[in-house]
Amino acid sequence: MRLFEYEAKEVFAKNGIPIPKGGVATTPAEAEGVYGDLGSVVVKSQVLVGGRGKAGGIKFADTPAELKESVAALLGFEIRGFKVGSVLIEEKLDIEKELYVGVTVERSQGKAVVLASGKGGIDIEELARNYPDQIVKELIDVRRGLRPYEAADILRRAGVSGKALNRAAGILVKLYDIFWAYDAEVTEINPLVVTKDGSLVAADAKMNIDDEAVGRHPEVRQEDSFLTELEKEARTHNLGYVEMGGTIGVIGNGAGLNMTTLDILRYYGGEPANFLEVSGRTYMKAEEAIQIVLKNPNVKAIFGNFFGSISRCDVIAKGLAEAIKKGKVTKPMVVSMRGNGAEEGKKILRALDVPIYENDQIAGEKVVELAKRG
Ligand code: GDP
Ligand code: MN
Repeated sequence: MRLFEYEAKEVFAKNGIPIPKGGVATTPAEAEGVYGDLGSVVVKSQVLVGGRGKAGGIKFADTPAELKESVAALLGFEIRGFKVGSVLIEEKLDIEKELYVGVTVERSQGKAVVLASGKGGIDIEELARNYPDQIVKELIDVRRGLRPYEAADILRRAGVSGKALNRAAGILVKLYDIFWAYDAEVTEINPLVVTKDGSLVAADAKMNIDDEAVGRHPEVRQEDSFLTELEKEARTHNLGYVEMGGTIGVIGNGAGLNMTTLDILRYYGGEPANFLEVSGRTYMKAEEAIQIVLKNPNVKAIFGNFFGSISRCDVIAKGLAEAIKKGKVTKPMVVSMRGNGAEEGKKILRALDVPIYENDQIAGEKVVELAKRG
């Protein structure tokens, strides 16, 4: 779950990282209250995408009148598909230098990775493309964490020196500690501003918490307002369900198999209505899964594609059979099954007249045809 900039900044500030003075507003009247006696301010759209500066989502104001104008222009403005519902108003910093610091997960190594650059203010993607030699990258053993001297060494190699070096190192250690303590996937400050008077301030803040760990952190927003109603309902059953725009309901065990299933459907001219994974701890929940899928009124047919491993096909088949017997499968369903428990699973479903295949391309073609017939 990605936090808004103002939410990430709250977390950063609570953990000792300096942030600019200011506050968030959702109406021009609120903005006036936040503005108070800040003087020159920056007005920043609060949306869950980066690159707001370039997209016109960041404005400056020196007077209450200018503030009013900026806030009115930004509220309701759309940035790459995201509507601006609130703005963050902050004292304008006098920038001497912009640094980049970030922490993320290096899955392939089972480690964290700290990134730093003396060339902040540019997106890390763009930085990596155009100035790869100006990013310092250091893998961190999460059992050990990041020590202050290591942080200082990373920043020194990134070209930071003088008084700023120790201050930046202190901030980087805190950023790493937040990353770890909050089960984050990313914590990032870009830019970490060195002001003309030598202080360091997090001018921007990005933070992404692992969806599965959000519940461990009651102090952050719990409700993800970007989920659809069905996605929220699926979560109460621990089902990984993503709603999509098409007409074919998809259930599969494993994210990779589901992705392939979506490709197969598109190859044969069909469009998936969702992505739903029943595997690991949820493979015995086929009945719940099918009910969620069928709650989407656009679904014309269902494709169940399973490869039995620990999540056995016969257990999944039993769940589907339950749903059929209870009269809950109200649309045509095609199933493809291979692997562990497939033979038993096929028997169970064949007895209920479910068209069943071993080849998921043939099954996919069939289900696309059924969905088109409507
Ligand atoms: P992003 O474009 O979504 O990453 O938004 P940022 O918060 O990083 O702002 C983009 C750029 O706006 C920064 O890199 C700065 O150059 C500029 N900016 C942001 N806040 C301030 C500020 O307080 N003072 C000044 N002078 N520039 C700022
Ligand atoms: Mn930024």
